[in-house]
Amino acid sequence: MALTTQKELDLRQIHDTEFPLPDEIQGTLAVTSLSRIYNWSRRSSMWPLLFGLACCAIEMIGMASSRFDFSRFGMEVMRASPRQSDLIIVSGTVTKKMVVPIVRIYNQMPEPKYILAMGACASGGGPFKEGYNVVSGIDKYLPVDVYVPGCPPTPQSLLYGLIALQKKIDGQSIANADDVPWYGAGPSEPTPIPILGPDIIDPRQMDIIRRQAEYAAQGKPYGVRELPPPMEIKKKVSAKAAALAAATVAAAPEPLDENRLKRRMEALERRRAFATKNPEV
Ligand code: SF4
Repeated sequence: MALTTQKELDLRQIHDTEFPLPDEIQGTLAVTSLSRIYNWSRRSSMWPLLFGLACCAIEMIGMASSRFDFSRFGMEVMRASPRQSDLIIVSGTVTKKMVVPIVRIYNQMPEPKYILAMGACASGGGPFKEGYNVVSGIDKYLPVDVYVPGCPPTPQSLLYGLIALQKKIDGQSIANADDVPWYGAGPSEPTPIPILGPDIIDPRQMDIIRRQAEYAAQGKPYGVRELPPPMEIKKKVSAKAAALAAATVAAAPEPLDENRLKRRMEALERRRAFATKNPEV
C-alpha cells in the first residue's frame, strides 16, 4: 500500500517491508501492509474511559497531566461515556459493590476494547486481598490485556503499560480471525454481570454454588473449595472471516529460495546502512 501525506506525518513509522525506498521520498511515501495501517491507526487513537476507583486513580490523573502527558500517544481524549471508549484503566481497589457497574460499563463499550489492570488492587486484591468487601482482581470477571504492578504504580509505569498495550495491538493481524473477533457475525456475547447479594456471585459459577447449597441441605460436607471451569471465550467468526483465514493459510508463501533470500539480505543491509548513517531516525 502506498500513501502520500502531509508534511507533519512521518510515514517512516508505518513503512513495513523489506523493499527499501530512495532516501528523498522516505518521509512522504510508505510501502506497508493493511494490518500495519489498521493497527497503527487504532493504537494511536486509543480513548480511555474517564473512570477511577481509588488511590491509583490519582497517579492516573498525574499521568494525564502536563508532566507525563499521555497525549503524546494519542490517548488524551478521555471519554466520560463507555460508548466512545476503547480502553478501561481499572485504577484502584475493586470492591464487590463496584465490580457490578464495572462489568456493566465494560459491556457498554464497543469492540475492539481493552482492559488495563492498574496496581496491586486491580490486579489481585492488593493489600485488601480476601477482604470481606474486595474482589481479588478484576481478571476474575473481565479479560485483562495488561497488568501494571505497584501500589500505586507511578505515572511512568502506567505509561509503560500503555506502551505494552500498543505493542500488543501492533502484533495483531487483520487476516487472523482470532485477532479481530469483533468482525464476526452478530453482536459479541456480553460478559455476565455479577450479582451483589450477601456476597458477590459470578453467574458463571452458579452450578458450583447450587451444588454446595444442595450438599449443605443434605447435611453433607460443603464449602470444599472447587475451582470454576476455565473461562470460555466465545468468539463468533463469520464464514467470510473463516474463509479469509483459511485462504491466507493456504496461500502461505513458499519457503524462500536462494535468490529471494539474497535479495532480502541485500535490502536489509541497505536499511542497516541507512540506519547507521541516520542514527536520529
Ligand atoms: S494498589 Fe495501592 S495505591 Fe492502588 S488502589 Fe490499591 S492500595 Fe491504593
